[in-house]
Amino acid sequence: MVDPKVIIRMGSHAEKYYIEKTARYLDGIIVGANLFEATPGATATLLGKKLNKPYYIDPMTYVYGRNLNYIKSPQGKTRELDFKRSYRRLSEKLSLPFISALSKDSRVTPKDFEGDFNTEECCKAVMEYQLNRIKENFDEDPEYKEYAVGILGPASIYAPYFYIEPNNHDAWMDLVLLLAKVSADLKYDVPVHAIICTDEAMLDNTNFLVKLKRELIKTGVEGVWFWFSDFDELTSGVEKLKAFRSLVEDLSKEIKVYNLHGGYFSLSLCKHGLTGVSHGVGYGEKKSVVPVIGAATPTVRYHLPDFHKRLGVPAIQRCFDSLKIKTPDDFHEKICGCVVCKGLVSKDLAEFSLFGDMAYSTPMSKREAQTPAAAKRCRFHFLMNRIRERDELKQKKIERILAELDAVEEKWSGQVSVKDDMAHLSRWREALA
Ligand SMILES: [Zn+2]
Repeated sequence: MVDPKVIIRMGSHAEKYYIEKTARYLDGIIVGANLFEATPGATATLLGKKLNKPYYIDPMTYVYGRNLNYIKSPQGKTRELDFKRSYRRLSEKLSLPFISALSKDSRVTPKDFEGDFNTEECCKAVMEYQLNRIKENFDEDPEYKEYAVGILGPASIYAPYFYIEPNNHDAWMDLVLLLAKVSADLKYDVPVHAIICTDEAMLDNTNFLVKLKRELIKTGVEGVWFWFSDFDELTSGVEKLKAFRSLVEDLSKEIKVYNLHGGYFSLSLCKHGLTGVSHGVGYGEKKSVVPVIGAATPTVRYHLPDFHKRLGVPAIQRCFDSLKIKTPDDFHEKICGCVVCKGLVSKDLAEFSLFGDMAYSTPMSKREAQTPAAAKRCRFHFLMNRIRERDELKQKKIERILAELDAVEEKWSGQVSVKDDMAHLSRWREALA
């Protein structure tokens, strides 16, 4: 049994506000190296000086092994499609084979590491980037130079990693494991962790999972962070959930195991050995390796604590009568009593609709969108609940977690407006038992 850690992933600097406000409750912060290169000064100051929290820098090496068009956008006056500056800068710092991928406009593949390619140099560059990136930034700035000496280093560093493609998984897995082994052999003072990134479909591939468990331990890494692309705890079937649990259970006997993009189900796996989960401030409990391009900003829905899932506000409101929720006090007792909810739903139950406030953002807008204030409330309410969930999980035995899932099903059964939103509860129960 492990005390689970919640590590928040900062997706943009706009999210800094949420992280600063909740930092004292969090176990750590993780940022992508591309965000670091887009805004080096602000990121270094936040992680190295302001927060004083364990931090991790995801080296994002996998993007150079994907279709490179995903990291292009219109650049300069001509608006010609070219590599985003942050990824170009990152490739220069990570060196080979990342720079050459961009100069040839040809993605990195396992072949790049064959022959006389210096894999050790590659691992060194990627890990020393993480070790020194913040300090380097302070060194460059005369105003902050004096701080550079006492700067906190990352809590652990990641070996270079790539997306293990399902249709060529042996070659990619061998490469990722090689990179993990070479990195671990460099014997840094900071723990070296691997990121295992592949498709969620691989959770059905027993041979793959058996090999992964066996070979990962041999690399000598002290931890692993899983990222099963598109693995969604809320919609996955019991077999996939169980396969994930079994990975966690088996590997955690030897090394630390994290889920890079997970939610409450993963967090509950602390009872089966999981060390921690990371996710964003209001989303990101699952993630695809294929970026979502051009999608509208999603509405931040209300995290219903009982379901550990986000729902639309009206669907929840429709249950109030039959759940006998008539006053703000009833609401705090039966739905959520976090500081955000107590502050917002204080005089009248109808104030709950402020979590779903919609408005036309400009007079020209064709559709209403969630107001920034409503999105902010939803995010803080979510973060407060995640912190509470983590704290409660530390005390709860697995039997209690299972009993609660049963009780929630019973409490909400017969509620037509949410019946399609609770199917995960029984699957989680089965997979956790
Ligand atoms: Zn709340």
